[in-house]
Amino acid sequence: EEEGKTMAGALQYQDKVVEEVMTPLEDVFMVSIDDKLTFDLVAEIFKSGFSRIPVYEVNEDSIVGLLLVKDLIFVDPEDEVLVRSFIQIFGRGLHVVWPDQSLGECLRTFKQGRGHMALVRDVVNEGGMDPRYVVKGIITLEDIIEEILGAEIVDE
Ligand code: ADP
Repeated sequence: EEEGKTMAGALQYQDKVVEEVMTPLEDVFMVSIDDKLTFDLVAEIFKSGFSRIPVYEVNEDSIVGLLLVKDLIFVDPEDEVLVRSFIQIFGRGLHVVWPDQSLGECLRTFKQGRGHMALVRDVVNEGGMDPRYVVKGIITLEDIIEEILGAEIVDE
């Protein structure tokens, strides 16, 4: 039965779009570029259990970088280093995908490298205003693999 589910998932995942499987912005654990990496914040980051933490500036929908939790081994909480200076040193690029892009396309983006997380970004056109980007959420390789396997992956 498990195999049947996997076969069906493998066949159907390509028809789904990013928006259906992404983690919506309100559920994303992130930090501000102006935060200090204090003992409390580092503890909170470890407790979140995530390996990649989007970094925003001013608003939660303007994500400017990524904090890789494994890089935190270089941080001494006593120094209260700013996230800002930390991602300047260890900053990594982020993929950007559209909400209506297919999972097949998104998977191809991930295969091109630069890590396995993408920002899901849309354009809003409100009357009279310039079009602007909004971040709707994030998607990772794991979200796509879950679709292919047709089941949630129990992580650790
Ligand atoms: P991790 O390596 O951190 O466990 P995965 O890539 O395995 O992350 O993704 C597991 C799930 O967690 C996915 O649904 C993904 O969208 C979500 N996710 C990843 N990072 C974050 C984050 N910083 N905040 C909220 N959800 C996240």
